[in-house]
Amino acid sequence: MDKIPSQMDICFSEKCNLDCDYCFVNKTSTDVLDFPTVKAAVDAFFALEGKSKTITFTTSEPFLYPDLFRDSVTYIFGTGEELGIDIRIVATTNGARFDARMREFVVALDPAKFTLNFSLDGNRKSHDAHRKFRGGKKTDSTFDTAIANFAAYPRRDLVRVITTITPSEAGLLSENVDFIMSQGFGNIDLFPQMFAIWGEEERNTLDRELKKVVRNFNDGPWAGRNLRLLNRLWGDTHYAKILLGSDGKFYLFEWVLPLQYEDRHAYEIGSPHDLNVGKRNALFAFLFGKTAAKNGGVCASCEFRPFCADPIPMYMWATHRKMDFDAYFANFCRMSAIMIRNSGTVERKNVLDVEKWGKAAKGNTAG
Ligand code: SF4
Repeated sequence: MDKIPSQMDICFSEKCNLDCDYCFVNKTSTDVLDFPTVKAAVDAFFALEGKSKTITFTTSEPFLYPDLFRDSVTYIFGTGEELGIDIRIVATTNGARFDARMREFVVALDPAKFTLNFSLDGNRKSHDAHRKFRGGKKTDSTFDTAIANFAAYPRRDLVRVITTITPSEAGLLSENVDFIMSQGFGNIDLFPQMFAIWGEEERNTLDRELKKVVRNFNDGPWAGRNLRLLNRLWGDTHYAKILLGSDGKFYLFEWVLPLQYEDRHAYEIGSPHDLNVGKRNALFAFLFGKTAAKNGGVCASCEFRPFCADPIPMYMWATHRKMDFDAYFANFCRMSAIMIRNSGTVERKNVLDVEKWGKAAKGNTAG
């Protein structure tokens, strides 16, 4: 277990311009971070041991706060350089506020150190099926706005598309991936909706579609572009993280965001002036014990354990939602098997070499 966090997720605010029906953020906090708080949190994070760190803006829509985003990114890179820390920043946007000013700022960032993720679920029909504007009309298309903004972005080859697969759209997956890659994106991360319980037929459909997708990357039209099937839902990356919440407090990790705001305090680990790493490690040990007790310790002998680690986020989700844990856990294991097995068939040429990619991109910034 990684004792010292090496990744900090920053949640500017839980307000969003979109109201996606599968969003895992509970949105019961109305706070918005300010720049002095972000600065203090970055300083606290940088003061922790370690010379290689990642900061993400992936738990809210960062481009709702363009000045705060620009100031934060500039401060993070500047301070990291002064301290000799190797920094990577990842920002995830739904694209609806990715206007000309934001595009100009982002395109100038070093692609070896900055990754832009774009949440796009496929063509208009699949994307708009689950992603709506908050308070918008039913007929408004979030797809049209986001696609138009990205069509004007010259470095789509460096963008990582984050595609959420819902059970209702699983049968259209290969068609949707083909559409996305045809827009010139260089990287795609498939993210099945793991907080839903999938039916057997839906799982079989997903498996079949994933096989088609992998074939298209291994020997088909998308060979050489990057396909990722295992993401933050698998692996023990949660042990490496902390979350800066929109209230300016540190929390265990981003998986506290599905909880109601008042239920999150149990997972609070201090403030930018008082980060309690000891409490963080004790909380992880506690949750690890809870998860192992609940699943009867089966992960310990499972062939997939190196990939799943221990599904602590899923334990928290199922407990909070008062779900039948056994049914939910069985569902998670079946879905994990599908994703892990298919991931094993993706050829290495389609696995992103960040350093190489960054160098190639730097030599080609004319757009
Ligand atoms: S597949 Fe299930 S039992 Fe196996 S490691 Fe993953 S969560 Fe644990």
